[in-house]
Amino acid sequence: MCTILLTVLLSLATNTLLAQRSHGGYYPAEKIQNLRQNTHNHPWVLERKDKAVEKASYWLGISDEDLWTMVPGQDLPRCIDVTFDRLTDGPKSLGCLKCGEEIKKHGNYPYNPDFVNQPWKLTCPSCGEVFPKNDFGRYYLSALDEKGLFNPAKGDRTLLYNEEHPDPDDPLHLYGVDDGYGFIDQNGREHRFIGYYTWKYWMHINEGLEALADAFLFTGEKKYAHKAAILLDRIADVYPDMDWKPYADRGWYHSDGGTHLGKIEGSIWETTTVQKFASSYDKILSGTLDAPELYDFLKRQSKKYVLPTEKGSRALFLDNVDHNILKTGFEAVLNGQIRGNQGMHQLTVAKSALALNTEPYTSQWLDWIFDAQGGALPGLMINQLDRDGTSDEGAPSYSLMWGRLVTELARLLADYPGYTQHNIFEDYPQFKATFLAAYRMTALGKAIPNIGDSGATGLVSSSLVDPEFMALGYRYTRDPEIAIAAYRANGGSAEALGRDPFSADPERIEKEIEEIASGVGPRPLKGYLMSGFGLALLETGNQVNGTALVSNYGRTIKHAHPDMLNFDLFAFGQWLTPDHGYPEFATRWPSNAEWTGTTLSHNTVLVNRLPQKEIWNGKSRIFKQLEGFGMFQLDGREAYPEMEEYSRTMFLITEDDSSLAGQQNDYVVDLFSVIGGQDHTYSFHGPPGNLTTTHLTLTSQGEGTYAGKNIPKGAWAKDFPIGYSHLYNVRIDQTPPSTFTLDWHVDPEYRNTKYEDLHLRFHSLNQINELVLAEGDPPQNKPGNPKKLTYALLHRRVQHLQSTFVTLIEPYLQTPFIKSIDQISMPGSDAMMLKVNKKNGSTDYLLFHPEGEEMLWPNGISLNGQVGFLRKKADQVTQAILINGTSLSYKGRSLASGKPIKGTVLEMNKELKGGGWIIVDQNLPLDGSLLDQQIFIESSSDRDASYTIKTIEQTERGSKLFFGPITFVNGFLGEEVIIRNTRVPKDYSSGYRYDFEEGASFSIPNHSIWLPSTKTHH
Ligand SMILES: [Zn+2]
Ligand SMILES: [Zn+2]
Repeated sequence: MCTILLTVLLSLATNTLLAQRSHGGYYPAEKIQNLRQNTHNHPWVLERKDKAVEKASYWLGISDEDLWTMVPGQDLPRCIDVTFDRLTDGPKSLGCLKCGEEIKKHGNYPYNPDFVNQPWKLTCPSCGEVFPKNDFGRYYLSALDEKGLFNPAKGDRTLLYNEEHPDPDDPLHLYGVDDGYGFIDQNGREHRFIGYYTWKYWMHINEGLEALADAFLFTGEKKYAHKAAILLDRIADVYPDMDWKPYADRGWYHSDGGTHLGKIEGSIWETTTVQKFASSYDKILSGTLDAPELYDFLKRQSKKYVLPTEKGSRALFLDNVDHNILKTGFEAVLNGQIRGNQGMHQLTVAKSALALNTEPYTSQWLDWIFDAQGGALPGLMINQLDRDGTSDEGAPSYSLMWGRLVTELARLLADYPGYTQHNIFEDYPQFKATFLAAYRMTALGKAIPNIGDSGATGLVSSSLVDPEFMALGYRYTRDPEIAIAAYRANGGSAEALGRDPFSADPERIEKEIEEIASGVGPRPLKGYLMSGFGLALLETGNQVNGTALVSNYGRTIKHAHPDMLNFDLFAFGQWLTPDHGYPEFATRWPSNAEWTGTTLSHNTVLVNRLPQKEIWNGKSRIFKQLEGFGMFQLDGREAYPEMEEYSRTMFLITEDDSSLAGQQNDYVVDLFSVIGGQDHTYSFHGPPGNLTTTHLTLTSQGEGTYAGKNIPKGAWAKDFPIGYSHLYNVRIDQTPPSTFTLDWHVDPEYRNTKYEDLHLRFHSLNQINELVLAEGDPPQNKPGNPKKLTYALLHRRVQHLQSTFVTLIEPYLQTPFIKSIDQISMPGSDAMMLKVNKKNGSTDYLLFHPEGEEMLWPNGISLNGQVGFLRKKADQVTQAILINGTSLSYKGRSLASGKPIKGTVLEMNKELKGGGWIIVDQNLPLDGSLLDQQIFIESSSDRDASYTIKTIEQTERGSKLFFGPITFVNGFLGEEVIIRNTRVPKDYSSGYRYDFEEGASFSIPNHSIWLPSTKTHH
């Protein structure tokens, strides 16, 4: 940003223009009138009003003078940890002065001061001891100077003694005494009771301000605005001098991200502190009109004390807050004293700009948010937000955060009629997807996969799905898909969704959602590919009993684990191959860095005993979710860039046997192909519980860990592979047979499973060199996590290896439903067939041929294509599926299909807006057979260029395919710079980067199904 613009932004001269406004920009007269009107005819609004009034009553009872005096200045020390010392060589933090480490089980911020009944005291939640021991309140008053502020040089130090031991000769006379800079113990360490108290005290004041402002909004009674204004004017007096750095430099701790920068708080949390000041100010502006008592009071204070600004009129009050809170806050954003996660400081500027509510200033400030050198929002939105509405982080919880923050900003701007330069809801097509992102990640509508630093081991939760957030998305987009999803996520109801007490029709959204979605029924169980985030989800069954298979392949960066192509299986209400989820500590801690956060603890393959590279580059090749049969093939080669092949093909197959009476019998087939390297290790683990094996001869290693008999559990890797020291109780079979099974009997205590006799059976169908079974512990400090999990490592070791690990995974209740499995291979070909014989007498044939050429199998099955599936009952073919091929025949039943479609992209939409469309050099069928199917476009970018086909039209050049309201743009070209700690485009003038380029080849895998009831369909 040029310096001229900066000067303009910050040159709010004392001017009459600003003083003219009667209202704030976010709370204009009309909204406030609506709110007050709504309290009369909507009980839920009245309820909110009563709560607001109740919350403000304490603050209303404080005299003007006392309220004014409550606001401390820069010289009252503050920090967020009583003992944490960034400079010490000793332990970074100590416990309670009395009970020591005991207090640590009460979390990171264990003290909750009672400001009303025990001012200036902290009570240890563990031992109940109260600190500091002196009457700090008296000392504080003795130290108030001519400015009305705490000045340590003025304090009466004779008041600094332990009140329980007033005798100066008493050895405890000075014990636990804090003058603001902490009690110094016998080791010279500080215990900063007052510092911690003051941190929370500022939050308390801000809450009081908010409570008063809310009560004014609801009631219109000026007494609330009067009190709030006194706090705001006083805060404005002190705010310019507030600076966290002197305390940070002493080694004290706050949320400054290590920069030592901040104002009242560290730079990260200061973003919300100022947002609250600005919003409260916005709310009460109209309550400061015709308020002579308020200005008289402030004038009187200015006579008693030496104050930085003149007092006595509304113009002077506004001038003080505008300059010394809003503008000072903006300056602090510019100089880094206010800087949070992306989205947070932009929101601080937006709320301040709206409170200013005066043009041209408000628009200038808001423009800054979009400036490449300012808030850099366009660069962040386009480079980091993918088409699924998730940010570039690998863990669901983190990747969903950005959308929520930006929504706050987006609605603020959309609600402010004065600003029309940008509308975030409309300007960024991928933003809409944010409202559906968590919902779409949820397997069976029940469980978000615990990927990366998200969730916990086997945690079944959909808590990241927030119907209210989705309703908000609907309110600003009026997208019926979001309305339907919100309705479903709200338990099949629109009740209380999207209520807006500031609207003339506060229940309008609720009514609209009801109208759109009533009768839609529950979310259908059918999987889909989230190719933006990189999640393949297959589903089968019904709402009560369902099975889901998820594999993450998008990115393994930022709060992710290096777990490319990892999968988890959800069946019988549980994750049965559970990821660890959130680590014990998300720092350099052995169980995180070398176990939870490394490749070996995941259901994937290690090459050359090394962890994967962390990337955002996974691609999908095929995705098909058909009735009772789903499959995907994913390519994760960049995780091991030197490999020729690193891909996983998985199938989720359903047994549709009515005699099973609703109990699902679904199984998974996994084909993991690796070419290159000399050591391939397929790692697999089941749920917690007893493991039994067949056909194995296991020898116990005895002591130590898999890293060695002398290597203790958890030792940092040194001369042995990462992760090996976290596996213990090691049993090895040096000559495992080509087929064996492992059967986990799920611990009934696991995540409140409903079943006593739930199992997971793993069928290995491989020539391997060694099988290792061992125990490994998931994070031990998370409620509900199992104590341990049993891992199986399948090793193959040869020079220039070509491996396809073939396994079948069978979750079942009580008795297995699979009798036996035969693997049939064809000499000289990498095609293979699995013959799955089931106890109910039916047999499944699954054929997989990577090259997809014609092949006649010895048992008479003929497949010309990549995937064939046949089910046979009583010598009759009862089901046939052909994927990516032209024919499949067996026993007189044959299935034919046109060729899989391949071609070239001739033209694409290169704009941000207008939706995702391409024109291809082929004439595609217009009969609807390709709708909702995936197209896979060749891409040399990091993004997976796979899209769901929504419509097809014929044009003169070829077929035009439309993929919905997405964009192929995934970044700006040109130079990048670091701004506020993030790499962003230097400017927006060099054009866009795309998911793929014109001229790229594409494929649309075809399929054909035959069922007796439905006949052949495509
Ligand atoms: Zn204690
Ligand atoms: Zn993980």
